Amino acid sequence: MQFIDLKTQYSALRESIAARMQRVLDHGQYIMGPEVAELEQQLAAYTGAKHCITVSSGTEALLIALMALDIREGDEVITTPFTFAATAEMIVLAGAKPVFVDIEPDTCNIDARLIEAAITPRTKALMPVSLYGQVADMAEINAIAARHGLAVIEDAAQSFGATYQGRRSCNLSTFGATSFFPSKPLGCYGDGGALFTSDDRLAQAAREIRVHGQSKRYTHTRLGVGGRMDTLQCAVVLAKLERFEWEIERRLRLGARYGELLAASGVQLLAVRPDRDCVWAQYTVLLPDGTRDRVQELLKAEGVPTAVHYPIPLHHQPAYAHLCCPDCCPNSQALARRVMSLPMSADLSEADQERVARALTQALAQVQAATPA
Ligand SMILES: *Cc1c(COP(=O)(O)O)cnc(C)c1O
Repeated sequence: MQFIDLKTQYSALRESIAARMQRVLDHGQYIMGPEVAELEQQLAAYTGAKHCITVSSGTEALLIALMALDIREGDEVITTPFTFAATAEMIVLAGAKPVFVDIEPDTCNIDARLIEAAITPRTKALMPVSLYGQVADMAEINAIAARHGLAVIEDAAQSFGATYQGRRSCNLSTFGATSFFPSKPLGCYGDGGALFTSDDRLAQAAREIRVHGQSKRYTHTRLGVGGRMDTLQCAVVLAKLERFEWEIERRLRLGARYGELLAASGVQLLAVRPDRDCVWAQYTVLLPDGTRDRVQELLKAEGVPTAVHYPIPLHHQPAYAHLCCPDCCPNSQALARRVMSLPMSADLSEADQERVARALTQALAQVQAATPA
């Protein structure tokens, strides 16, 4: 059993992927070829955002959004420490300071009720992360941003395809930034990403920053980066979109089914709020504290791969520890010890899913029986 099954997806799309890649090789426009605009059009239509700007990765999407918003040295951006490093890393790389706000213990997303207390005169933006594929409390976050004149960047690297109050992730705030890293809900065969916005001026800025700040060829109006997505990778994502609707339905169904299968297992399930769904980029559960290492070992022995997203919150990482006191985000600290992700992809079979649930239930019972109360 694979943690993420990309092989079955490839066999289903093999001919389409080959044909689309062959077309790129034939026309030879490897950079900014017609597939780039075609993909941007389709993704904008899918999310409902006015503009989509493909970029070289999810990480670059975050950086370009910050640069387009003119966030720089002396500025602060409020985010969560319970995320992949890229979120805070790009804030630092833009010259600004990430300000960490703790998470809700039942969703692992930023706790919107704690944001306002972290706002200072230097705050320029809020950067919530739609972790595991569930959008954070965006209505509350947008309302706080409006009250204080701040921009909102959704780190939607894990949530492409998710819905929130009837709208798609990536079309919920000033900017939405997603990733097409192969294991994300919509992946390519290398690095790729996209930015979404409905603001014409910001879209234009992001397009220029993507190509070294050029407003036209060899006119460098602003500071930029080399941030384009390859035409070949855009061709791969175009092929993957052919079954994406089916894949999202399947992820939602498998997520609900994991919930049923694990209801009596002793693990705590993450909450999914009623006004949104979760596309389960990772199907993550909470184990009783102190059991994870042993449970992972037992599952591995049963042929069930697991992973931890993420074992150390960013405010405890050497590169970011100076930004915040060690006890400032107690939920993040506690949950980093308890989260564990199970195999998940649209092509996970029901039989394999049952095997995972059975193995996890047994492993946890065994570990708890061996632990003196
Ligand atoms: C994957 C991920 C990123 C970075 O995306 P890349 O395409 O790998 O650069 C950023 N933020 C989060 C939350 C992610 O999961």
